[in-house]
Parts: sequence; structure tokens; C-alpha cells
Amino acid sequence: MQKFHTVVIGGGASGLVSGISAKRAGNSIVILERLPVAGKKLLACGGGRCNFLNEKIDESYFNPSARELIRSAFSRFGKIGILRFFEELGLHYYSEQGRIFPVTNQASSVLKVLELELKKLDVPVELGFEVADITSSRQGFLVISSTNKRVICDKIILAAGGRSYPALGSNGSCYKFCRDFGHRVIAPVPSAVPIEISDKSCHFLQGQKIFVCAKSLINGKISSQAAGELLFTRYGLSGTAILDISQDLSIALNRQTGDRAEVLVDLVPFIEEPDLKSELALRVKKGFEPLNLLCGILPDKFGLAFGDLLKTKDPDSIAAELKHKIFKVIRTRGWNEAEFTCGGVDSSEVNFKSLESKFKKGLYFCGEILDVQGPRGGYNLAWAFSSGLIAGLTE
Ligand SMILES: Cc1cc2nc3c(=O)[nH]c(=O)nc-3n(C[C@H](O)[C@H](O)[C@H](O)COP(=O)(O)OP(=O)(O)OC[C@H]3O[C@@H](n4cnc5c(N)ncnc54)[C@H](O)[C@@H]3O)c2cc1C
Repeated sequence: MQKFHTVVIGGGASGLVSGISAKRAGNSIVILERLPVAGKKLLACGGGRCNFLNEKIDESYFNPSARELIRSAFSRFGKIGILRFFEELGLHYYSEQGRIFPVTNQASSVLKVLELELKKLDVPVELGFEVADITSSRQGFLVISSTNKRVICDKIILAAGGRSYPALGSNGSCYKFCRDFGHRVIAPVPSAVPIEISDKSCHFLQGQKIFVCAKSLINGKISSQAAGELLFTRYGLSGTAILDISQDLSIALNRQTGDRAEVLVDLVPFIEEPDLKSELALRVKKGFEPLNLLCGILPDKFGLAFGDLLKTKDPDSIAAELKHKIFKVIRTRGWNEAEFTCGGVDSSEVNFKSLESKFKKGLYFCGEILDVQGPRGGYNLAWAFSSGLIAGLTE
């Protein structure tokens, strides 16, 4: 049976970086990855461009329960530390409205520089090794794969991600071990995820993209808001504005809180409501057909989607509906379409400085397996890299 000082479980963003960090700290190490390739999710990041960091990263962008942990982590490896790490690996980058991408615009560049460094450091990455069990004794940890391969070690870094996008590797299979070692796993729910709604407008508007201001309403109260793209789909709503407000909706719908989840959308954010009313009143006066009342204000399909309302030719109710359209949310699209996981191992149960479990000596965490979530825009990879660099260090 092979023995290593450190076993990293998960060859994703945080796992690969923690492997480099651990080896540089002088430890023998192996990375175990369940898929036949490492870093599959990294390749899908940022639509294949990999938005791997943001100009502005600090704890205020993350969930309140994780902020102390984030402050501590970023004080060791924040924006400057992460950039220095990648610069030393030869990665050139640029910033687009605060979002940082590799200059090649290829996520594969980020993965490649990590893989080259692992190779240079002679770190083995064992592919197709799905960890199925972990036991511990006075001799250390025994890690067993689904095909009964065995590895022993003194230190485990759990870098197995959350539950989102199982096709890219992370499927929540390691939460079980966290619970076995006494950790609380806050119910994981899909985040940055499209939503399903019941509204006949979707039938007419599917495929249509517009720029909107969207707000999530939980029991009628505004919970979060975002300006950005709204994409109507066959089943409901997607686009950046929806992904950005989806977390609160997902918690309400998936944690069985009994809360009512709705989306309030300003479909015409470029015009104030009184001005819209006046313009519509003028059009009615000029004898516009109902179908043409929104011509030049919204794409043509909206004439059909809001046909019944437009037939009233009532400027006040038409303007009110366009400025304050409410969609009742039925469910989220689920794990197969979620960019992040909200929930995971309670971050108060890890030592902020080292990321070691407060309950089990030798057990460390990094990345999305912890209950840490930032918004879209490079924050989640920043956390994955920062926590990976820390978890690999030997205190
Ligand atoms: C489509 C998409 C686009 C995204 N774009 C961005 C972006 O541009 N910027 C950004 O900041 N964030 C982005 N994210 C989020 C970001 O990718 C994640 O937050 C980040 O990858 C988390 O890193 P991780 O190492 O914790 O987990 P992962 O990258 O998910 O890696 C976990 C690894 O563990 C392996 N694993 C799981 N269970 C086992 C097991 N039992 N045994 C062995 N191995 C196991 C998995 O196969 C996987 O390779 C995106 C996510 C998605 C899905």
C-alpha cells in the first residue's frame, strides 16, 4: 500500500493548487481525482475563458457566515498573492471591467500552467480514483477507492467541490466523510442557476434576450437585485441578471422553508415610469394598434406576449406591468445547470489560519466543499485558489 504525507481528494481548481503548495512545502503528496481527467470544471469556467480572479476581492463579497474566514485567507493569499502565484507559473492575464482572465482567453491556459508545475514538482495525479471511504487510526488516514485501491497518509486535504455540475466532477460525494468526522454540512442548494416559472409569456418570448433590472422577492420582500441580461427560455428565465439573484430563490425553494419565491423585473429600465406612461398615452391617442404599442421600446415578440394587456390600451396598467413584472418561481433548474453550490461544511468549524478541521486533526478543507460563496465574477475561483494555497502549507 502506498503511503504519502498528504493526500488531496479532488483534482479541481483548489485541489491542484493545494497539491503544488503542499509539495513546495516539502511533503510527499498525491492528488486523487474521480474523473479520467483533472480540472474539467476549470476548462468550463467563464464560458471557456476562465474568469479566475477579480480586481476587487474582499470578504464583503462573500456570505456573511464565511467573512471572518475569508478575511483571514485573503490576508495571506489575496489578489496580489494569487496573481503572483500565477505569474510565477508563466500565466499572463488582463482585466475586463474588474474581471481577470488569462490573456489567451483560454481556460486551458490556466489548467495547463498548473499541470506543468505539478509535473515539474513530480506530483502524481491519480485519475479515475473515486474516494469511497476514509477511515482514521493512530497510524493516520486510510483512503479507499470505489475499486478498492488504498492509500495511507498523515494529512488529507478535502478539495472535492460542492454538488454543482456533476458532469464536471463534483457530485457531493465527500460531504459524507465530513459528517463522519463530526462536521455540520449546511444543506447544499444550487446557486447561479436558471429558474423555472409558470408564465405564458415564456411561450412567446423564448430565446429573447433583453437588458433588465431584476430583484428576488422572498415572501414579497426584496432580497437581492442585479442589472444584466435576461434570457427567456422554454421553461423560464436565465441570463446573468437571473443567475446573480438566484441564490436566495434557491434557498427558499430547496431548503423547504415554505417561503414564497418570486422575481420582480423592470423590463424597461432605461425609461422612468411616468415617461413611459406619457409615451404610451401619446401612442394610444395617435391610434397605434395594440400590437404596435411597444414598437421601438421592446422587441417585437413582446407585442404578442403582452397581447391581452396591450388590448386594454391603458397606459397606466401597461407601464406598471412593464416596470414591475412579477414572475412566480416554481423551482430552480437544479444541479446540472448550477454554477456554484450554496451550503457545505460549516466554515466556523475550521481553523481560519490553516483550514484544518477543528474536530479531526490532519483533516483540511479547501474550495467549494466549504460553505463559502461569492458572486459570479471570479470570486469563487479566487476562494478556491487562496484556500488551496493555504491548505497545502504545513503549519
Ligand atoms: C460552468 C461553470 C462556470 C464557472 N465559471 C467560473 C468563473 O468564470 N469564475 C469563477 O470564479 N468561478 C466559476 N465557476 C465556479 C468554480 O468553477 C468553482 O467555484 C471552483 O471550480 C471550485 O473549485 P473546487 O476545487 O472547490 O471544486 P471543483 O473545481 O468542482 O473540483 C472538485 C474536484 O473533486 C473531484 N471529486 C469529487 N468527489 C470526488 C471523490 N469522491 N473522489 C475523487 N475526486 C472527487 C471532482 O471530480 C472535481 O474534479 C464556474 C462553475 C461552473 C460549473
